[in-house]
Amino acid sequence: MSRFFSDKFSSLTPYTPGEQPKDRRFVKLNTNESPFAPSQKAREYAATAAKSLQLYCDIDCTKLCEKLARMYGIKKENVLFTNGSDEALNFAFAAFCDDGCPAVFPDITYGFYPVFAQLNHVPYEEIPLNEDFSVNVDDYIGVGKTIFIANPNAPTGIALSLSDIERILAGNPDTIVVVDEAYVDFGAESAVGLIDRYDNLLVTQTFSKSRSLAGGRLGMAIGCADIIRDLNTVKFSTNPYNVNSMTQAAGLGALEDQAYFEENCATIMENRAYLTRELEKPGFVTTDSLTNFVFVKHPEIEGEKLYRELKERGVLIRHFTLPRIKDYNRITVGTKEQIDVLLNNIKAIIGGY
Ligand code: PMP
Repeated sequence: MSRFFSDKFSSLTPYTPGEQPKDRRFVKLNTNESPFAPSQKAREYAATAAKSLQLYCDIDCTKLCEKLARMYGIKKENVLFTNGSDEALNFAFAAFCDDGCPAVFPDITYGFYPVFAQLNHVPYEEIPLNEDFSVNVDDYIGVGKTIFIANPNAPTGIALSLSDIERILAGNPDTIVVVDEAYVDFGAESAVGLIDRYDNLLVTQTFSKSRSLAGGRLGMAIGCADIIRDLNTVKFSTNPYNVNSMTQAAGLGALEDQAYFEENCATIMENRAYLTRELEKPGFVTTDSLTNFVFVKHPEIEGEKLYRELKERGVLIRHFTLPRIKDYNRITVGTKEQIDVLLNNIKAIIGGY
């Protein structure tokens, strides 16, 4: 820290993203990226947009908003596009949390929530998940705080039903409920259809996983027009040009290629079932994941040890150090070939125990 760094950030611990090593080629199953390239249309549109980069981008992401509104059966006033869904989440912490309305989220969830809370000087409370990592919905009724709930949750992979989400919304009519749907396209139910009925609902989604655009940085926030207006106030007070022209174009191409999206999601779900089955054979314990990752532990091998040994063998998975989940690893669902490399290495490692 330099001697100039503001005291207001002196105790801020930044988010630790998954490793992105450059020194060696890994089978990379640690950051929940898609193993599939972006759709051809996304790449072509981005290349065309690159020809006009001397101009500022469209601050309203007009084409994206119109396309998404048609696809989701909402109005374009119901959506705000952002630089990854992380930005949408940060905007939500800025717009809807303060000393009078702290944030609340599970003790085991997306690690960025406490960081955004600290960054925005927002107090926060963490509610423990049940022993089996499920959310106890009753804990979230009438909490009087802004709720952040990843559905499905990360890194557990477990989803709440839409009726449980609705119960949380109905149980907190005077505070915002942010439903982070980064992984919703892999089998869970989206809450987008509820935005007309609940003016306290904000849904965030991303193009990083199911639409293969993690490097493009495109996310969105969906909610009633008033909430979206509030988020726009934050956006226009920080970075009006938050989604660059190439990313807007790539996002449009991805939305126009719905068949490719559906095929890739179906493949990931099939591969998830295969990976889960194969991991359970030698005794791994898994959660019921509805995401593009599995969350697993083995009774005989420490989570960190497995992570390290796989890394030495050229396979990257994600290990967390939080006490409750230190025995677990999160493994991104890759292609069948990547999964087989992972499984062969795991077999070799387990054989030595
Ligand atoms: N929410 C959750 C639960 C995530 O795991 C991630 C990915 N790290 C995000 C949001 C943010 O993804 P992005 O900013 O790439 O849209």
